Amino acid sequence: MSTYNGHCHCGQTEWTAKLESDQQGHILCHCDTCKYLSGSAYTLNQIIPKSALNITKGGDKLGKYTYYGDSGKGVHCYYCPNCTTHVYHHQEIMGDDKIVLRTGLLKEGIDGTLKPAAEIYGKVRLGWAPEVAQTFDTLPPS
Ligand SMILES: [Zn+2]
Ligand SMILES: [Zn+2]
Repeated sequence: MSTYNGHCHCGQTEWTAKLESDQQGHILCHCDTCKYLSGSAYTLNQIIPKSALNITKGGDKLGKYTYYGDSGKGVHCYYCPNCTTHVYHHQEIMGDDKIVLRTGLLKEGIDGTLKPAAEIYGKVRLGWAPEVAQTFDTLPPS
């Protein structure tokens, strides 16, 4: 287990995340929601316990955007209200203790140390985006 640091683009929000060894890589998500929320081809994520994320600066000021996933349950996205950096989100369907962290925002995500570990929603991958890890059409079988 190692502790990683992240901050938003403007610096108003800072956080640390404790990642177990099997969480020290990115899950690439190619879903259309991620395309909208990131303005990019896919997002970089990891599912971690809520207690493993510590917002060390600006946590009381985070903005919240809620949408409803395919399940009909809420997905709450938390972002810096100044620069809109999307720090993490909470999917109600995963229960109260799990969150989805944007691993691409950790220092080791920005500098390229963290590597792709798997890809999800490969069925809507953009045609020009190469496959770089084990890919699931939607979600891995649970
Ligand atoms: Zn910010
Ligand atoms: Zn997605």
